[in-house]
Amino acid sequence: MQSLRLNALYNLISDTKTQQAPESKKITAIFGENVFSLETARQFLSDEAYKSLVASIKTQNKIDRKMGDQIAAGLKAWAETKNVTHYTHWFQPLTGATAEKHDSFFTLKSDGSALEEFDGAALIQQEPDASSFPSGGLRATFEARGYTAWDPSSPPFIIEIGHGKTLCIPTIFVSYTGESLDAKTPLLKALVALDKAAIDVCQYFDKNVSAVKPTLGWEQEYFVIDAGIANARPDIVMTGRTVFGHAPAKGQQLEDHYFGSIPERIYAFMRDYETEAYKLGIPLRTRHNEVAPSQFECAPIFEEVNLAVDHNTLLMDVMTRVAKNHNLMVLLHEKPFAGINGSGKHNNWSMATNTGVNLLSPGKTPKTNLMFLTFFVNTIKAVHDHADLLRASIASAGNDHRLGANEAPPAIISIFIGKYLTDVLKQIEKRVGDKFDEQDEAILKLDIHKSIPELMLDNTDRNRTSPFAFTGNKFEFRAVGSAANCASAMTVLNTILGETLSQFKVEVDKLIDGGEKKEVAIMQIIQKYIVESKSVLFEGNNYSDEWEKEAEKRKLPNVKTTPLALDAFVTPKAKKLFEHHNIYTHSELEARHEIMLENYVKKVQIEARVIGDLATTYILPASIKYQNVLINNIQGLKNIGIGEAGYCNQKQIASKISEHISQISSSVESMIEARKAANKISDSRKKAIAYCDTVKSHFDKIRYHVDKLELLVDDEYWELPKYREMLFLR
Ligand code: ADP
Ligand code: MG
Repeated sequence: MQSLRLNALYNLISDTKTQQAPESKKITAIFGENVFSLETARQFLSDEAYKSLVASIKTQNKIDRKMGDQIAAGLKAWAETKNVTHYTHWFQPLTGATAEKHDSFFTLKSDGSALEEFDGAALIQQEPDASSFPSGGLRATFEARGYTAWDPSSPPFIIEIGHGKTLCIPTIFVSYTGESLDAKTPLLKALVALDKAAIDVCQYFDKNVSAVKPTLGWEQEYFVIDAGIANARPDIVMTGRTVFGHAPAKGQQLEDHYFGSIPERIYAFMRDYETEAYKLGIPLRTRHNEVAPSQFECAPIFEEVNLAVDHNTLLMDVMTRVAKNHNLMVLLHEKPFAGINGSGKHNNWSMATNTGVNLLSPGKTPKTNLMFLTFFVNTIKAVHDHADLLRASIASAGNDHRLGANEAPPAIISIFIGKYLTDVLKQIEKRVGDKFDEQDEAILKLDIHKSIPELMLDNTDRNRTSPFAFTGNKFEFRAVGSAANCASAMTVLNTILGETLSQFKVEVDKLIDGGEKKEVAIMQIIQKYIVESKSVLFEGNNYSDEWEKEAEKRKLPNVKTTPLALDAFVTPKAKKLFEHHNIYTHSELEARHEIMLENYVKKVQIEARVIGDLATTYILPASIKYQNVLINNIQGLKNIGIGEAGYCNQKQIASKISEHISQISSSVESMIEARKAANKISDSRKKAIAYCDTVKSHFDKIRYHVDKLELLVDDEYWELPKYREMLFLR
């Protein structure tokens, strides 16, 4: 039988028909057509129901049963115009994926006649069978059941799969006693906390500010490879990444992919998923090749955080699904291939007021400048004070391959702000001890706005190595992993800024109460914060060894692995912070910590199994087969009387193969022993650490020898598609 690899290669070369991209349509003609936007709601709801929907989006208050019935009826009427037959509550459990359970509108009346039905109860609340979602022991401790509850701040939408259409209602997922079991509930709470704290601070500058909404624009990196080839790699199918594979003769050193045009087959796929995305109201804006071969990126226009998070998780689903139609596979893993760049998801983040101001955009007048400086410096202070939490918020088994490796932001959280703003902060800092007074025009009238062109240039082009960079009018959190749900990073970022801003307000008010002029008081606390948090600012090359040493001197945390990084979630400081802002109770935090540790263990466990299986059942047999060919050849040569000099090369290769085989066998053996030992540990944290330190530690050695064999063994015997085939053939 021909190997899956050779079959896949044959199919790839012989099958020349590329899936057609959908017909070009004006984006505005399809944008949002599958979304129950407020505009659509206006058409399908009574005045009363519409108003109550708008009010609940604004205030986040619950909708009562009667209004719920009316809204449900309108939703159903709209969905039926689009031939939708089923509905589902759509939510983001802590498995890292999205979950749905489809129910049909169809039901039977007591007399047996058929009816299509959807009422307020079905819209507002559901009880999915939650027992198989991770709860970190929460449901065991409290109540067996969990339920999903409608989140009106994210509009319902219709998913089309083939000819099937399902109405999806974005929901949160909580235990029966109210503990959050998903990614969204804490995020929504964090947004409320930030809103409250930021409004209070905005009052110093503008009494008309009554709402502050954080904004998010994510940049999604991903790899796309031929599905036939991917399916011949059990490691990709099971773990999303290649656990073996020698670097190809040509990697990314030429950087020709980055500047090249998008290959036709990929282009058809992109246009297809973009069309789906537009219908779902996901405002995609850019698409391009990334640095590594077969790596790409897309980014939308930024939106309010909650919606942006939903749109990103939804898009990851859409991309994965649409790729199948093109016989392609999307790899969202942070590090699918060794030796070439991994994938991240930059989180561009800022805050917008109801008055239309971007709080991280330098202002035109001294007053708005001061407002900018306030939010800018408070963000720096928040990141400085809670760097450990930010690090924890992006921790995952996948992202561990990226953070600290030589092409991604390191595990040290630092901030890049550019030369111009560094100078501004230095000027302010210099004044330590000397009180700001009203004459201090030099400071209050810092003309930051005039320097915006300089600032933009300064910040967008220069430093690509920083994990957290100011890019002119927003911060860019770059250490987020490509497969992550942005909710985790966004929950932490908005909570810590909420905390810092409320502290800021207390300190400024104290000075004002003591008779200080408002602007002077604000400047004094800004100065204090700069002094307290300047150690987190770094403008140099974050990938260098010097930075690691320098960061240690500055006492910045540098936690390289997930099991240890997650500790930050359960420190007394973190518990107090999250409880104070009503984001997580102590038991919710502990449960989440538990879930993330378990998740880590499962990921490493699966990888270890795949590595063991592939080494034993793919790599060793192929190597032995080829070794036998060599042995037969040597025997034959000997038989016809050829001396040692005639077969010494063959002999050398055969003996090298033996050496690698024995190294692999013994390492796999000890890895299995280590796994057995780790499995006996009951404490989740210790178990995760054991998996990291004693199981995962074998991966590189096994890989080293397997990759050496790949270079020795006859290509025809090698069953796993090679890097050159995955990365360069389409
Ligand atoms: P880059 O140079 O990194 O490609 P872009 O200016 O293209 O940066 O923006 C990248 C992302 O940042 C986009 O998704 C964009 O919508 C988003 N973005 C721009 N302004 C803001 C903002 N105020 N808040 C949040 N995201 C923003
Ligand atoms: Mg960017």
